[in-house]
Amino acid sequence: MIKFKSIVLAVSLTITGTAFAAASFTPGTYEGTATGRNGPINVQVTVDKNKITDIKVLSHKESAGLSDAPLSMIPKEIIERQTLKVDNVTGATFSSKGLINACQNALSKATKDLSPLLVAAPVAVKKPQKDDEADIVVIGSGIAGLTSAIAAKEQGKKVLVIEKQGMLGAGDSMNISTGITAGGSKLIKDKGIRGKSTQDYVDHLMKQAKDKNIPINKENVETYARRGGEIIDWLMELGVPFDRFQNDKYFHITKDGSAPGPHIMKALTAQMKKDGIPYRLNSRVTEILSDKGKVTGVKVSTPDGSYKVLAKAVIVATGGFSASPELLKRYAPDWTNRPTTGASSLTGDGIRMAQAVGADTASMDQIKVNYLCHPLTKKDGVSLTAITPYTVLVNHDGKRFVDENHPSINFKSKAMMKQPSHEAYAVVDQTAMDNLRLMRNYADAGYFVKADTIEALADKLKVNKKEFINTLNQYIADCKAGLDKDKELGRKIQYPMVKPPFYAALVTPSMQSTYGGIKTNNKAEAINTKGHVIPGLYAAGAASGHEAFANEVGFAAIIGLTYGRIAGENAAKYVK
Ligand SMILES: Cc1cc2nc3c(=O)[nH]c(=O)nc-3n(C[C@H](O)[C@H](O)[C@H](O)COP(=O)(O)OP(=O)(O)OC[C@H]3O[C@@H](n4cnc5c(N)ncnc54)[C@H](O)[C@@H]3O)c2cc1C
Repeated sequence: MIKFKSIVLAVSLTITGTAFAAASFTPGTYEGTATGRNGPINVQVTVDKNKITDIKVLSHKESAGLSDAPLSMIPKEIIERQTLKVDNVTGATFSSKGLINACQNALSKATKDLSPLLVAAPVAVKKPQKDDEADIVVIGSGIAGLTSAIAAKEQGKKVLVIEKQGMLGAGDSMNISTGITAGGSKLIKDKGIRGKSTQDYVDHLMKQAKDKNIPINKENVETYARRGGEIIDWLMELGVPFDRFQNDKYFHITKDGSAPGPHIMKALTAQMKKDGIPYRLNSRVTEILSDKGKVTGVKVSTPDGSYKVLAKAVIVATGGFSASPELLKRYAPDWTNRPTTGASSLTGDGIRMAQAVGADTASMDQIKVNYLCHPLTKKDGVSLTAITPYTVLVNHDGKRFVDENHPSINFKSKAMMKQPSHEAYAVVDQTAMDNLRLMRNYADAGYFVKADTIEALADKLKVNKKEFINTLNQYIADCKAGLDKDKELGRKIQYPMVKPPFYAALVTPSMQSTYGGIKTNNKAEAINTKGHVIPGLYAAGAASGHEAFANEVGFAAIIGLTYGRIAGENAAKYVK
């Protein structure tokens, strides 16, 4: 977290045991490189005899939006404080570390002794914190938080957004990698697509729930499904470049196949700023305040101290709990020790705080795991879900083991857990790369191995080569024969694998998102353990237990967007 700690120089010297000496450089401009989240980050650092005077990021492949904060804040921080010992921007750790390492790499060419730069510099004194007030406090700045803030502001309310990380959208919303589902959008109509109206979408979700025997809350599902098209239209007006569809044509994806999350967050952030909605970063809400059952505000903790914000309504949009080992152990014990493709900030804070003021929870065991996680470390990975309709999964024995088009992501994850080392290779051809910019970035970052032929690909992977080649050649033959479904597993062939070169990424099931939380009704009001509405408390997005079962029925982001707006509208009505 980029923050100003109130330590004086003397304390710093005592702790580190190192004098805060100035660095000595050979004046000039030096280039350096290091790996970020999506690939190399290249920087140019200029120094005079004793000072870093300029840092330019020359090129990078980091996700737009997600990397904006570190790429703009960290160079300033390094120059201002003349140290490489600056904190990562929380929520963008890989990009932050990559950028700092690239600067270090450049500076290592300018000096023989980097040690003065590896000491934390003394920083500013704490600012006293004052209590504050607002009509409505929104906790969390993902899609649910920002849509609710914008909707409440449209009704003329004084809104304050509070975010615990060092940037807006530091949760899963930046990670939305594939698309947003809805029926009846203007894009569907403009493309002349039939049979995908709002009512068709409602029917589609009800059928999915019926076929899978999932006990959804029909009222909550129908409410969001009826407003989905309108939300897509609004996002497009704000500049989100939806232009095509994947799979069932409810799934809106971007023109170049880049991840929608950063586009949506950029658009919502711009709108929030245009509306003049204030926000606070590095500010963790630690308590929801209430008096005689009514919500009265929140308590906030910052590096500079704590304070209260009094408010007539509070909207909890703190995301899920995929990064809380304690809650996962309780509600998803099978998936506690997996890497995660989700954000590290999602520790279930809002759910716990709402419970402390009497809220009930719903669907806490509903989680989504993601078998298309390419692991980066033991704990973290990136999601390759966008390649689902293109990919064939082959295990280390060179065998396929599941219909890659099976409608349940959890089913496929469980199937992969049974494979050697709980791993497989996700193989795609050039078509997937042509259609999906995000995957081209990931290929550039080295997450995929590439080869002109299946035989050459097999040479580069840890597989039984003979079986791998047989398996893939059989599948490709089915594609070339124009079959709708492959012969081996009956997988629907939507994008025939016929265009070399071929690519393979190692994948393993990961923890992705949680879909249970504060029990809510279709007005996004929080419900207490006696079944009554808690006056002034609203929840939306992954923090809410909306009982829409987005792990199996529909997809999650549209629920967060829709109930975000609904929470903002209803909170505004409530505060009058
Ligand atoms: C890899 C990945 C890919 C995905 N792809 C898709 C997709 O293609 N389509 C789809 O429909 N869904 C997708 N999802 C799901 C989707 O990302 C989530 O459902 C959605 O972003 C949730 O939004 P949210 O606003 O509820 O929470 P988040 O975006 O997670 O935001 C919560 C915010 O609250 C903040 N916060 C937490 N605690 C506190 C506190 N105490 N005080 C202050 N702030 C706090 C967090 O820092 C964070 O910024 C994907 C999820 C992942 C992980």
